[in-house]
Amino acid sequence: MDNKNKFSILNIDDKNLQNLSTLGYTYMTPIQEKSLPIILEKQDVIGKAKTGSGKTVSFGLGILNNLDSTNFRIQSLVLCPTRELATQVANTLKNLARYKHNIKILTLTGGVPYKPQVHSLSHQAHIIVGTPGRILKHLTEDNFSCESINTLVLDEADRMLDMGFTEDINLIIDYLPKKRQTMLFSATYPETIEELSKTILQNPITVEVESTHTSSSITQKFYEVNTHQKTSLILKLFQPTQKSVIIFCNTKIQCDELADSLEQYDIEPLVLHSDLEQKYRDETLIMFSNKSYPVLIATDVASRGLDIEDVDMVINYDLPNDFEVYTHRIGRTARAGKDGIAVSLVDDLGRFEDLEEYFDTKFELLVSDDIKDKDDVRLGYDYSTLYINGGKRHKLRAGDILGALTAGIGLHKDDIGRIDILPTCSYVAIKNSSYQKAFDGLNSNKMKNRYFKIYKR
Ligand code: ADP
Ligand code: MG
Repeated sequence: MDNKNKFSILNIDDKNLQNLSTLGYTYMTPIQEKSLPIILEKQDVIGKAKTGSGKTVSFGLGILNNLDSTNFRIQSLVLCPTRELATQVANTLKNLARYKHNIKILTLTGGVPYKPQVHSLSHQAHIIVGTPGRILKHLTEDNFSCESINTLVLDEADRMLDMGFTEDINLIIDYLPKKRQTMLFSATYPETIEELSKTILQNPITVEVESTHTSSSITQKFYEVNTHQKTSLILKLFQPTQKSVIIFCNTKIQCDELADSLEQYDIEPLVLHSDLEQKYRDETLIMFSNKSYPVLIATDVASRGLDIEDVDMVINYDLPNDFEVYTHRIGRTARAGKDGIAVSLVDDLGRFEDLEEYFDTKFELLVSDDIKDKDDVRLGYDYSTLYINGGKRHKLRAGDILGALTAGIGLHKDDIGRIDILPTCSYVAIKNSSYQKAFDGLNSNKMKNRYFKIYKR
């Protein structure tokens, strides 16, 4: 790598740079390299790039560039399509803002109680990240003022429009000062986005990058199957070396049904769709990302834009109706230079041919007999999750949990996986071989001078 794509060539201060490097960001991704010089000049920008290309850091640095931390007023508004995405963006922004003191970021989304958000707003914030519906509700009820907003971000704009947020977005924009920097990011650029950008951006510069994943690193396979053969084919596809598999279904019902049938083979899948309670969805994502469960069954809506790394295999239980979605789905695997595999189960030949036409290519259609039967269906999973009945509100930090597990209980730090601290609870992934020891130990040891309730998940 040469230096031309290092963050250090940008006009940002040393503390910011140093923080980026502690976050593991030294070299800019292509979208960052193209967009940041424009963004830092405070120009409006349209960024076209696929999921996983690093857009959050692009607009995040733009937001911080415009932020006066001593002015305790809302200065930036970030609109995202789903609650999960908003949470993810807010977390990234928090990390990026660490080099400044006391930057307050509020997440305002649906699916969680409204009143506490009103209360939080009364204490002010610097940055708001949320979904259009809930933000609009707060605006119409006059819960916050837009006077000091100088930056607007529309993240995954195409998805927001797909989800029917066009009107809400336009209404929100009516509340904002005209003089502002607007950044719009979208994986695709249909006419609807073009229309929207005309009305909300001023002399925007468009930057575009190819998908960061060359198609060669994703092996695509297609199997012709009858619907009733799908479960047994999926079982055959699982490999013990795989620790992370996402199965996409077109409907919520299919997700639930597939989960039921996999359970009969002692596979315990996680399920993610929008009928499930928010708390459950958060927990599901944590336990899939921290490698406690190897299989996630999800709908597209629920998993949109989510940054789940290291997915070994994506299975399309059905081909999606929309082929943009197909690209989106298979892009979950083969991230960060790793290879991945995407398998589609085809029971509708017409749709398969449409897909070939869409990509202007011929795919080989395999028959499921090509895969050997296995008597033992197993996927690898190294970790299990402990739930701790305490979180940020109890001033619990990752370091406290890590300390209790290592110094307190004598676990090796390699036995401890990802730690997630939420407002009122926390999750820690523990290697299976030390799981019981960690459970017993945390139950009988104090953290922050008190006992927390620990549960196995
Ligand atoms: P997008 O919004 O384009 O889908 P994200 O902003 O979620 O992408 O970033 C995808 C992943 O890439 C995240 O895990 C993020 O931490 C990582 N990432 C972003 N920028 C860099 C960088 N410059 N160097 C290394 N990793 C990065
Ligand atoms: Mg994103």
